[in-house]
Amino acid sequence: MKAQQEAVFIHIPCDLCGTRDFVTLGKPKASGKIENIVPIPEDISIVRCKRCGFYYTDPMPFWRENELQDIYDATYFPEMTRWWKRVKTKVNPQRRLDTIEKHATSGISQFLEVGCGLGYGLEDAIRRGWVVCGQEVSPFFADQVITRLGIKVFVGQLAAAHYPENYFDAVYVDSVLEHLPQPMEMFREIHRVLKPDGVAYITVTNEDALINKLRSLFFKLTQPRRCPILSPLAYPVHLIGFTPDTFRLACESVGFEVKRVVVCAGTSEWRKFGIRNVGCLLLNIIYFPVYLIGEKLGKGIAIEAVIIPRKQDRK
Ligand SMILES: [Zn+2]
Repeated sequence: MKAQQEAVFIHIPCDLCGTRDFVTLGKPKASGKIENIVPIPEDISIVRCKRCGFYYTDPMPFWRENELQDIYDATYFPEMTRWWKRVKTKVNPQRRLDTIEKHATSGISQFLEVGCGLGYGLEDAIRRGWVVCGQEVSPFFADQVITRLGIKVFVGQLAAAHYPENYFDAVYVDSVLEHLPQPMEMFREIHRVLKPDGVAYITVTNEDALINKLRSLFFKLTQPRRCPILSPLAYPVHLIGFTPDTFRLACESVGFEVKRVVVCAGTSEWRKFGIRNVGCLLLNIIYFPVYLIGEKLGKGIAIEAVIIPRKQDRK
């Protein structure tokens, strides 16, 4: 019975350009949680497409519904520091929705948060008087939002929600695309449901970050087989990865114009979740300046972008 529920691991081509020509970078980190949920194939690796530079997992896990429930459950988010809680729940959504308003050429009425998690974008949108829709694959997260905000959340993949075409004035996608085995389907769906004069705000992890270069050097000396990027088998369960170049390529290939891309320093783990042990403290003393220098060099850990449907593609 368990066998029918297990994830399918499939060798797929690069989701961004379609080629199967890749360089193998190394093995991903594994955690007990995922290994307890599903048996992991021995040949699983992190790879980079030779043609376009997109990072992905090979073979790629396609989680089934019950596995998505187990991965994205009450234990998914570690306990947050007070500072990070405020940034994540208030400061970031407010700043990003302000940016959406600045780029909107007409008023915003219909707002969609894709992969809404615990619904902080939705909460800020409701305060602005927008009509909100939330989509989320995790029933646990969706239930939290429904209870807290009293709104409907579609539970399932975005395309399965069958939102009408040209419907939303604004779409907000915070740290979601990295979790998808084939993110281009979501890019196409966002383009389909967004109005021709709509605005989307997307955040993704930047795999071209300076910290990853440093970790790569460190792993070469200590764990030569280990890849420093992506984490398909451990928190935060990232299956694919963008750089600013591949992110732009992805947007443009489905008919978006990139209005603004910012590479941010991001936030180090200790500021998000606190210091758990001495090793964690030492690591973060090293990491913190690297994040800041990375930002100055355009190699921070987070990409934030405003995208709009390209004029000649507008329906
Ligand atoms: Zn490619």
